[in-house]
Amino acid sequence: MANYVVIGAGVIGVATAWQLCKAGHRVMLVDKHGGPCGGTSQRNGAQLSYSYCDALASPAILGRLPSILMGRDPAFGIRLQADPRFLSWGLRFLLNCSPGISSRNTDALLKMAAATELLLPNLLDEFPLAFDYSVPGKLVICRDAEAFSNAARQVAWKQAHGIKIERLDRAEAERVEPALAHYADEFAGVVWSPNDAVGNPYSFCKGLISGLEARYELRARYDADVTSLVKRDGKVVGVVFRNMETEMCDGVVLATGYDTRLMEGRKFDKIWPVQGYSLTTPASADAMRASITDPKRRVVFARLGDTVRIAGVADIGPRHFSFDQERYDRFKQAVASIFSRGFDLNDCVGWSEARPCTPSSRPIVGRSKLPGLYLNLGHGAFGWTLCLGSAQRVASVISDDRR
Ligand SMILES: Cc1cc2nc3c(=O)[nH]c(=O)nc-3n(C[C@H](O)[C@H](O)[C@H](O)COP(=O)(O)OP(=O)(O)OC[C@H]3O[C@@H](n4cnc5c(N)ncnc54)[C@H](O)[C@@H]3O)c2cc1C
Repeated sequence: MANYVVIGAGVIGVATAWQLCKAGHRVMLVDKHGGPCGGTSQRNGAQLSYSYCDALASPAILGRLPSILMGRDPAFGIRLQADPRFLSWGLRFLLNCSPGISSRNTDALLKMAAATELLLPNLLDEFPLAFDYSVPGKLVICRDAEAFSNAARQVAWKQAHGIKIERLDRAEAERVEPALAHYADEFAGVVWSPNDAVGNPYSFCKGLISGLEARYELRARYDADVTSLVKRDGKVVGVVFRNMETEMCDGVVLATGYDTRLMEGRKFDKIWPVQGYSLTTPASADAMRASITDPKRRVVFARLGDTVRIAGVADIGPRHFSFDQERYDRFKQAVASIFSRGFDLNDCVGWSEARPCTPSSRPIVGRSKLPGLYLNLGHGAFGWTLCLGSAQRVASVISDDRR
């Protein structure tokens, strides 16, 4: 049995801890916050979006770039930064927008998402967690005939990848999800993926950590900011906490989201935070059951137990960001302009965090350049959807290194 420290108790770190425990290792899961999911995983869009984890860098976003740069795009924002890491990240993001590269990136994400979909039932057999999990399916709105017709190619491509997905015209879509009758605008149809799920990542992580502590050799340690790594003979063999305590181990997994301070000495420029907002509000009788995505305004709606979780906005700006009340208010107005029924926007909890995005949208999973240090970082807009597949991959690399 080997000892591993997993830094970061968001969905990625917790899933990694599960895989390492299952492989027979002793795990210390540490986080600088006072409990699990203090970062991006806390109140994200809640969607296990197995059929729709398309890379952010795409020909479509390239087409929107002029209006984004002029501040006219309802969903995306860019504030240029005089930071060489920003410029390097931005340049590589643009290179990833070509149709071929973007499709390959989406393909890689779909495969990792499919691994999560396969692993989740095993996990729930072992730990019957209560996290408002359901499989209501997902509808992506096509606003006009052109968008509906363009979606045909994407749907065919995904079907060829074995994904259950189809197009429905408006009448069929309203039969699947009656709440669409209250959608404010005209729309031509939807892309419908019935296997997509939702679940509360915070409850999932909290429950899974308790289960792992009871069944395996897992210890969780909070309010524990790791400030550096202990190296011996060029290998990472421990971590140092802000209070100068150390924890020695056989290896460390970095699952720190967009916080890449521990990689800073290595000129790490592969992840940039892309800020978003969510709000959670009680569901009323006519709230949606299925998840609904409005791609133009990049707003996603998910029914989470007796609440509706709504998420959106993608702002690429400073590395150190904060909750922008004016931006949040605009997001709320956009939400109100999409659905005027189903929830009460006067009674909601607002939240903001950032997606840890790589230029390609593909996460960085596996060995680092330093022996003993493994990375599970950069899951962008789909970390919840990718978490189990990604954890399985990093655990398998660790197992290979132990052979
Ligand atoms: C608005 C919004 C909506 C989203 N909606 C969805 C969705 O519907 N579906 C989906 O799949 N994904 C969604 N995402 C993306 C998803 O939330 C992220 O990809 C995912 O949460 C990343 O998880 P993580 O564990 O890598 O990061 P985090 O959850 O941020 O966890 C990293 C943890 O590391 C800790 N940490 C960092 N540095 C240190 C250190 N030095 N010492 C100790 N601890 C440290 C932090 O405290 C933090 O708790 C959304 C994101 C946003 C912002």
